Amino acid sequence: MYQKNPTCDLNHGPIQEDQLKLVSRKRVPEGTVIDVSGIQIGGPEIVIIAGPCSVESEEQLSSTATAVKELGAHILRGGAYKPRTSPYSFQGLQDEGLTLLSWIRDEIDIPVVTEVMDPRKLELVCEHADILQIGSRNMHNTPLLNEVGKVRKPVLLKRGMSATIEEFLYAAEYIIKQGNDQVILCERGIRTFEPSTRFTLDIGAIPVLKRLSHLPVIVDPSHGTGHWWMVPGLAKAAIAAGADGLIIEVHCDPQNALCDGGQSLHPDTFKDLMDELFKVALAVGRSISSSVVIR
Ligand code: PEP
Ligand code: MN
Repeated sequence: MYQKNPTCDLNHGPIQEDQLKLVSRKRVPEGTVIDVSGIQIGGPEIVIIAGPCSVESEEQLSSTATAVKELGAHILRGGAYKPRTSPYSFQGLQDEGLTLLSWIRDEIDIPVVTEVMDPRKLELVCEHADILQIGSRNMHNTPLLNEVGKVRKPVLLKRGMSATIEEFLYAAEYIIKQGNDQVILCERGIRTFEPSTRFTLDIGAIPVLKRLSHLPVIVDPSHGTGHWWMVPGLAKAAIAAGADGLIIEVHCDPQNALCDGGQSLHPDTFKDLMDELFKVALAVGRSISSSVVIR
């Protein structure tokens, strides 16, 4: 029997640009620039976020943070609450990891980004972090998006590993709708039929996101590939494709990392990558500030 249904609100096919309101490029044609302790994300300069997947100990965090800062990273990353696939894997140092992060932030004077997974921890994470990260597994968690939308802290929103670009932008829309318009979009790879890489880094998402939205776009080539040796190539590709920055996992002893060692760069490799990124940035009319380091 023929059934006349109302129009389905899921769009199959091209993104309906007029449905995107607060994230739309039309709202801020020149693009949004987000200031994190004097570092501008979304401006002409490329921003490099680097650090370990997880905070493991004072020694591990201190050595890695010092190394990445000396090599030119602008912001330190490090997970305290880890969204692990298996409940038997290391879950992060939790509250203690946060304390270590803000200690190192003050010690070496570098802003930090860390993931918030639970709205009950939001206030605590806000006290210790300069940027709140919403991980890939939580991109669809609308109660959490609403909560980070109510605070006055920049949010690094990662693309869900199975999310379309449209769903990703709607997740950002949730945050901004609550009043927090400091959202940084992060492409971190999507799940495809290809098993040789952990995820498939969707480089093509960069120009789409930049065209549709005014928000800064950064790329995570570490989770996007799962292999440290792929990270430099895709980091450079991301900048060439128009990304405003990168978030890269770096560990002083990747072989003994408690989480994601196989995709983490040793500081020596990170140094070589930074040297190459300077050239790629220049080639595409951008630059990487070297204010933190005399090169
Ligand atoms: C991370 O950056 O620590 C992380 C867990 O990434 P994702 O949410 O992209 O998997
Ligand atoms: Mn990781």
